Amino acid sequence: MALLNDAGQKVLLRDYTWEELSGIPGREELKFLLPIGAIEEHGPHLTLHTDALQAEKISEMAARRVPGVIVMPVISYGFCVDTMNYCGTVSLSAETILMLVADIVKNLYRHGFRKLLIYNGHGGNNGILDASLKNALAGLSGPGEHCLADFNLYLSNSYEKISGQVRELVKGRDYGHACEIETSVMLALAPEAVNMDKAVEEYMDGDQDTVWRVRDMQSASKSGIHGAANLATPEKGAKILEMLVGNLVALLKKI
Ligand SMILES: [Zn+2]
Repeated sequence: MALLNDAGQKVLLRDYTWEELSGIPGREELKFLLPIGAIEEHGPHLTLHTDALQAEKISEMAARRVPGVIVMPVISYGFCVDTMNYCGTVSLSAETILMLVADIVKNLYRHGFRKLLIYNGHGGNNGILDASLKNALAGLSGPGEHCLADFNLYLSNSYEKISGQVRELVKGRDYGHACEIETSVMLALAPEAVNMDKAVEEYMDGDQDTVWRVRDMQSASKSGIHGAANLATPEKGAKILEMLVGNLVALLKKI
């Protein structure tokens, strides 16, 4: 059964036939939404696909509320330099991500689509995705051309815009990875993927500015957690989830 939006239109690219898709009028106004996450350690209590699952589900929930949005299949892998030493983390190289984004943009452009929003669920992807978007746009122009304007590319990093509101809900000393916030969201989104018996509180040394300069997280956090995962609740998760979805809905309406 295909996922439909509030107007009864299909939401997922994979549910369309090529004829159905090509028959949609005004294709340059269609908004493609590409979720990207990571396959990465998330402590002893959350599964490796936590970021990919959040990006995918939040994209689907937001797309259902805005007409004319088509969700592309999630890119499950991401750029995970800090957490590589934990068993199971599988990182793409920066070069691969650059090429992947450029290829997707090129193909959408070829079919006459002109709007793509990348929804990023993994903090480690932020920098490389920003560069990838610019690189993809530059790749659409011929040598010597300055015309980058006829394809609209947007990037939204999931927690970025709501970090102030999220901070108010945190009961632990800090948060950041596989933490109180992320575990709460997972309890609301996919409780079967959470084992609260193994959710602990651990912090990497230093303030957040220092923490994010750590290159091997395993040397700073035995569990792979930065935060108080044990303080996560589904109620808190539902609130944060609504903020995340609401933020993406507002963005999708604006573009
Ligand atoms: Zn995560």
